[in-house]
Amino acid sequence: MVRPYAGIMTITDASNRSDTDQASSGVEPASRLLVDNLRVTLDGRWGETRDYVRANIDREDLLPDPSLTMQQARDRTFEHVEELARLDFPSDGFRRDHGGTGDVGAAITAIEMLGYADLSLMVKAGVQWGLFGGAVENLGTKIHHDKFVKGIINLDILGCFAMSEMGHGSNVQALETEATYDRATGEFVIHSTTAGATKEYIGGAAQHARFASVFAQLITAGPGEEPQSHGVHCFVVQIRDNKGKPMPGVTIGDSGYKGGLAGVDNGRLRFDNVRVPRENLLNRYGDVAADGTYSSPIENTNRRFFTMLGTLIRGRISVAATSGAAARKALAIATRYGTTRRQFEAPGKPEETVLLDYLVHQRKLLPLIAKSYALEFAMNDVVEELHEVQSADPDLALHDAEFAKRQRRLEASAAGIKAITTWHASHTINVAREACGGAGYLDENQLSIMRGDIDVFTTFEGDNTVMTQLVGKELLSAYAEEVQGMDMVGWAGFIANTARDMFLEATGSRQLTQTLLDAGEDDGKSDLASRATHLQMFRNREEHLLRTVAQRMQRAKEPDADGFEVFNSAQDHLLAAAWASIERVVLESFVTHIKDCDSKAAADLLNKVCDLFVYSTLENHLSWYLMHKHVSVERAKAIRRSVNTACRELRPHARTLVDAFGIPEKLLTVEMK
Ligand SMILES: Cc1cc2nc3c(=O)[nH]c(=O)nc-3n(C[C@H](O)[C@H](O)[C@H](O)COP(=O)(O)OP(=O)(O)OC[C@H]3O[C@@H](n4cnc5c(N)ncnc54)[C@H](O)[C@@H]3O)c2cc1C
Repeated sequence: MVRPYAGIMTITDASNRSDTDQASSGVEPASRLLVDNLRVTLDGRWGETRDYVRANIDREDLLPDPSLTMQQARDRTFEHVEELARLDFPSDGFRRDHGGTGDVGAAITAIEMLGYADLSLMVKAGVQWGLFGGAVENLGTKIHHDKFVKGIINLDILGCFAMSEMGHGSNVQALETEATYDRATGEFVIHSTTAGATKEYIGGAAQHARFASVFAQLITAGPGEEPQSHGVHCFVVQIRDNKGKPMPGVTIGDSGYKGGLAGVDNGRLRFDNVRVPRENLLNRYGDVAADGTYSSPIENTNRRFFTMLGTLIRGRISVAATSGAAARKALAIATRYGTTRRQFEAPGKPEETVLLDYLVHQRKLLPLIAKSYALEFAMNDVVEELHEVQSADPDLALHDAEFAKRQRRLEASAAGIKAITTWHASHTINVAREACGGAGYLDENQLSIMRGDIDVFTTFEGDNTVMTQLVGKELLSAYAEEVQGMDMVGWAGFIANTARDMFLEATGSRQLTQTLLDAGEDDGKSDLASRATHLQMFRNREEHLLRTVAQRMQRAKEPDADGFEVFNSAQDHLLAAAWASIERVVLESFVTHIKDCDSKAAADLLNKVCDLFVYSTLENHLSWYLMHKHVSVERAKAIRRSVNTACRELRPHARTLVDAFGIPEKLLTVEMK
């Protein structure tokens, strides 16, 4: 479609580009090399997987089509899932002895790349192989692996992941679906005990899934015992027969039209005394003998519950990784547009000004590009750690305390990267939409569809606020065993007793020293330009927030203290501490990856990108730094100036930076020029 505006240039018309834009388009070998080197650095350990997926998804027909009806969108998404199965896409996610290839990192990386194509496809694939398959793989034992994994990989067995309920989404421990063991028949009876126990929003439930991994409170009694709940466990339940009709006792509803993800058939499930064989309990962490006796390798109910959930973090990391890809794509689209679109003439110039030559347009897009780089490096680290942890002996955590600790640290990292990346993606896609003006709102230019599709990523696989809180708790509790799953009252008491010595008292001299250092540094060339200073400033914020929130928690020790009230009144403080920690981890990751980059030109440019990430992050928190006297007014001003300077320095490289994301060209097809 040709748009009838004067002064609009096509992205492919090199004569309309600035030198730097031409250079980054591939015309100039040196710049091509730079793009390639940046891409290789950003691609990380699973670069080959990325290239394989790139080659297979470079097709316009994979993009969401907003003209389809809901049913057509679901059918089309499912056809694409079938194509992925034919490409042997899912095998990496399953262990060799279960019928896969056991390359966890490759599995996550491949699913991340779908974020460049269609988020419905990512979610649909993620539900089948990551969530349903992941539950069977990680919570099941040999009998389940032998029976289900092959069929899950090749789509003979279609499944969904039925955890959330109408009444309880974030608080999984309080689910109301029950699975009561009937010793007389050797079956579990799955029952939705209340209206709130209805499984809701379940991807795949409305149409395609024949099986569900159902999370329910396990109730059983051994000989001579009273029936007792042993907490939430997971059961494979057949929900449809071979003809697609609901199984007896199963009621299936359709969640209907949603704010996005049109190709995903979300639905609801209710169970009316549905019987499944005892073997359908995924029994790696808890089992029931024929006589009803319960056993588990983990005695503590809380610990068992969190260990079970902990094995399922792959879904959370996939969601984070994919949202990072979606953000990068939105930035690539908006940056391309921003380097060609012109508005308003400048005096003495023959042409109107290119959008990205305006400072505020640079400030809109470039800090988000910088953050996207930072997050992808941090994501690569989390994926690598997940790969290592999940490639180890699955039972290691049961008898190796150090390994169990490592697993819990990974869970906190997963929660943190999930929250920061999905919020970043949601924000970025919206900014990119605005950066393209009216054109950004047309579905033919993708951003408006992406905005709807990405929205729920901040909610599913762990609500972001709850995820951030999880990071905060983990930090404060120093990974103490007892605190896992503790209620707020108990937890506040724990913190009061043990956490106060965790951090050094801040010295009163810091502000003074800073002020002295800053005096006369108004030329902006002080050690504010030093990476060590950046790291220190991120650390200072984290340590200050953690120390002070721990101090506030000590009030729980006072006589008659209301533990919940103490915790609740400091909740915003705890989240701020967690956020500071997440950002510090991301920065450290970025710095490490630049050090590992063996191309000098790429490392130099990455250092500039890292500078912008630092300055724009500090700028976002300037009021905090000033309020707590961690920076002087002079330094605060210098930080603002540094954002502007870094934006100006990176402007000529904008196209290079987004080209280096390596997004398949056909997936960047938009009508706007
Ligand atoms: C499109 C879609 C697909 C989904 N797919 C699946 C699926 O396939 N399988 C599945 O099992 N689930 C699925 N879900 C459910 C999803 O995981 C839940 O919606 C999510 O966990 C949040 O739960 P909730 O909706 O009950 O929100 P709530 O937990 O009720 O949260 C509502 C608000 O309360 C806040 N809040 C909650 N607890 C606290 C707290 N302690 N402190 C402060 N604030 C708090 C949250 O931040 C949020 O803003 C899906 C959801 C959607 C929308």
